[in-house]
Amino acid sequence: MPRAFASDWRDRCRSDRPDPFPMHALKRVERPTTRIEDALVQRKDERESGFNRAGRGDLGERLQREFTRFVPKHPLSGALVTMTGVLGHFVDARAGSSEDPSARAGGMPPLRPAAEHKAPGTEDPAAMARHIKETAYFLRADAVGICELPPYAVYTHGKLDGQPIDLAHKYAIGILVDQDWRTASGFNGHDWISNAMSFVSYSNSAFIACVLAEYIRRLGYPARAHHARNYQVAVPPILLWAGLGEMCRIGDIVLHPFLGPRFKAAVVTTDLPISIDKPIDFGLQDFCTKCKKCAKACPSKAIPDGGKETYNGYERWCADAERCTGMRVGNQNGSGCGTCVKVCPWSKPFTPFHRAVNWTMRNIPAARRLAIWGDDLLGYDKPNPDAKWWLDLEEVDGKLQVPGKSGKRD
Ligand code: SF4
Ligand code: SF4
Repeated sequence: MPRAFASDWRDRCRSDRPDPFPMHALKRVERPTTRIEDALVQRKDERESGFNRAGRGDLGERLQREFTRFVPKHPLSGALVTMTGVLGHFVDARAGSSEDPSARAGGMPPLRPAAEHKAPGTEDPAAMARHIKETAYFLRADAVGICELPPYAVYTHGKLDGQPIDLAHKYAIGILVDQDWRTASGFNGHDWISNAMSFVSYSNSAFIACVLAEYIRRLGYPARAHHARNYQVAVPPILLWAGLGEMCRIGDIVLHPFLGPRFKAAVVTTDLPISIDKPIDFGLQDFCTKCKKCAKACPSKAIPDGGKETYNGYERWCADAERCTGMRVGNQNGSGCGTCVKVCPWSKPFTPFHRAVNWTMRNIPAARRLAIWGDDLLGYDKPNPDAKWWLDLEEVDGKLQVPGKSGKRD
């Protein structure tokens, strides 16, 4: 064991690895650890997501009203969601897709369609996989993985225009961006910074995906960026097949072995010939069976504390999307919710101590209950007041005020 950990550590210290985390040290498997009946999985319609249903009134008048303000009611999440939207419009306004844009929008130079001639040196799939990952890390991604695009990951209809989606790219590149450990240690899971944490990752992953897609088109291959407010694909199956995590108790969420659920993701789909990664197995199915911390802490009781069920071809824990949406949209004492992110034992900084604990959780099943107990004992699920840097503010009727119940658990 000490030798395996030392080798893990030595690899981490080598400067020629582009990835911030030792993903190469994980056990790779042929299929995701969640059982998937590929033939039974139905493509989803993005218009039926919890947020879209709240926005059109399916979940009641109060949530419909709150939907228009639940992110912009805090000035920082408001600024971030506005800029993410600008990026989405920037892509949409040109062609509805960033694959083949030709029109000018807003006086900006047009995005390019795939160049007529393929760039020299782009024929080797293994070399291109490494190059594309290095490019994404250069753009400040925290984790990157590649898979073939599962056909069932493509939405049937887009939420913006309601049009049927026809996307036949062969590959998908998953891009993860951390929501920030220090901020996560300072919040209680559902106070006034929660939506800003989501949208800083959404915005930054959107930027990386848009630049990467434009770069691939300039190399001579079709590519499209998929990001918050502009997805044509469901992200979880792509992250699973690309070896970026396993499905967890939180439901339709993929958990990364070194970030936990503390990230948001964007995707680039493309026909650039590129080597794929394999799914990973770091023992999460067993860990989540024993842990249940997110189920206990979820303010809306959306996360099950029982076993897995089969839903749409996946055998997994099924969270209650309506309850979760109700909490995130309707939270009156904060902006959004990430309590499950806050309390998850896998959401930790990448320090030598936490790295050693992480190695133990991944490799020694018998030590997992001890790790969960230690996590409780050290109080990682509690907010650290020294790490709080943001202002508790709420915009009401166009005016910012200090909310009456800042950060209170309700
Ligand atoms: S985001 Fe909040 S409400 Fe939704 S599952 Fe997580 S803890 Fe529960
Ligand atoms: S809190 Fe525990 S049960 Fe929930 S996702 Fe994290 S490891 Fe799994």
